[in-house]
Amino acid sequence: MCGIVAYLGDENAYPVLIKGLKRLEYRGYDSAGVAILKENDIALHKCKGKVSDLEAHIGDASTDGTVGIGHTRWATHGPPNDINAHPHVSGDGELAIIHNGIIENYSTLKEELINRGHKFESDTDTEVLAHLIEEVRSNTDVDLFEAVRISLNEVVGAYAIVVMDRNNPNQLIAAKKSSPLVIGIGEDGTYYVGSDATPIVEYTKNVVYLEDEEIALMDRQTGLKIKTIQNREKTPYIQELELHLEALEKGGYDYFMLKEIYEQPRSIRDCFRGRMNLQKGMIRLSGIENFEDKWTNAKRILIVACGTSWHAGLVAEYLFEDLARIPVEVEYASEFRYRNPIINEDDIVIAISQSGETADTLAAIKMAKKKGAHIFGVCNVVGSTISRETDSGCYTHAGPEIGVASTKAFTAQVTVLTLMALTVAQKRGTISPERLHRLIAEINSLPDKIEQTLASNDQIEFISEIYKDASNALYLGRGFTFPVALEGALKLKEISYIHAEGYPAAEMKHGPIALIDEEMPVFVIATQGQSYEKVVSNIQEVKARKGKIIAIVTIGDTEVKKLADHVIEIPKTDDVLVPLVSVVPLQLLSYHIAVMRGCNVDQPRNLAKSVTVE
Ligand code: GLU
Repeated sequence: MCGIVAYLGDENAYPVLIKGLKRLEYRGYDSAGVAILKENDIALHKCKGKVSDLEAHIGDASTDGTVGIGHTRWATHGPPNDINAHPHVSGDGELAIIHNGIIENYSTLKEELINRGHKFESDTDTEVLAHLIEEVRSNTDVDLFEAVRISLNEVVGAYAIVVMDRNNPNQLIAAKKSSPLVIGIGEDGTYYVGSDATPIVEYTKNVVYLEDEEIALMDRQTGLKIKTIQNREKTPYIQELELHLEALEKGGYDYFMLKEIYEQPRSIRDCFRGRMNLQKGMIRLSGIENFEDKWTNAKRILIVACGTSWHAGLVAEYLFEDLARIPVEVEYASEFRYRNPIINEDDIVIAISQSGETADTLAAIKMAKKKGAHIFGVCNVVGSTISRETDSGCYTHAGPEIGVASTKAFTAQVTVLTLMALTVAQKRGTISPERLHRLIAEINSLPDKIEQTLASNDQIEFISEIYKDASNALYLGRGFTFPVALEGALKLKEISYIHAEGYPAAEMKHGPIALIDEEMPVFVIATQGQSYEKVVSNIQEVKARKGKIIAIVTIGDTEVKKLADHVIEIPKTDDVLVPLVSVVPLQLLSYHIAVMRGCNVDQPRNLAKSVTVE
């Protein structure tokens, strides 16, 4: 994880770095630091805590200088403390480095360096890299760029780094492997670097996404030069950024998470816009059409994902099996990659990742690719690594998601996966034109239905107040809403730190029912549709044991109302689309409960937005 930012230009670096770090704080926030170069002197400021703690720590100290690097950390090696915070400097104090990733062979390298007389201050793998570069530079007659390039050939693991030279205020060096890195090109030899484009967007739209094992030299006079770490020259590929500043601000909401929950009518519309033809009753997804044979002849679909994306994958399992009649397996990427799975050439692997940088998902698709499967990516971040590593794919177009707990990215993923299942069903002839037409019209009405659901916010806040002090919670769903129960439970856990579990409603009898007493809130998705009667029976079972029922029901429901302690009504929609509407009240419930418990909703403890480490 970690966020990295750097600046080389004519202005003071500090404001650019601090602003950039605040934007990147979703990636890690256990410590922060900056190193600024002025007159051959590196001013290093770093401390445990958030970027705001760093600002307080710096206070009135001088931050002048037109070259600088900054970091917000999510610790992997060594506890979050002042010493382990980045930037790290080499033993001779000649260079400062920031790093996102893990140097897997750091202990071997460290041992060798200690034998050569190096002394280390921190527990981090990053400091080892700083000393390794110093060692290479002192043993060879090469400049810093070469020394970094040679050193990176010794490194096993993942890195996005920026290196600053105490004696050279005209240059910065950056490199990446597995962790993301973007270079922004400003005017007159000005450069910006970020883990993503958010710290760059307001200064320039011209960016270069570094590829794995590429190293870049930014020089005020000679411009941008890129090589591979194997020493092959590359021509920088400059792209225009499609990211708007307003999309990164909170827009009047207290938290990004709430803003993002409220954005769902728009983000879902953005997701299907241009992909559905209401009149003709057709869906067009070029990512599928360009590989039509693969999809129509697919024997099996494997879905790999982590966290909330894995829940979207579970919804997709129901969708593809029901609509397109293709068998689906949904896998945790972290398990899949290490268990020698059977993958055939006529399998399709769908990788789902909001950031498009999830390390385990990336590793899983690389493995599946080697075995010949067709790889399809569902990502939100345009230009992300997974979107580039896959054979084809579909962006979710949800816009930047800053809150660590995913909301609009989840509903956009499920929307894309629904469109995909319908496209394949249409091509395989497993859906009637009438049903397809009806479903397209239903999808088109989803933004309004979500808007209507959001209107229950006050009632949801009221219910949250009643259950905010619970220590445990159970979430139940059935069929298409079982993954929603899992997602509801995950949201509550993530941001309010209440232990919660999601279960298929009928499975409750095989264990969790033992937990039910009058203290235990049970959130049930009991919308009208295929499993309605069965879920009503499950509610009876909970009530018989004095559990508290909070049910999500279809507008006008009377039966569940008689049994439940509280009901939240949502508009009626087709069974296959219920996940998209029913998840919204659960997002709001977890949001309000977390706020009432005084939790930091956007940056929950121990979590990071984009998990770029294993
Ligand atoms: N491994 C480095 C550290 O622990 C960077 C961590 C990361 O990128 O998540 O400081």
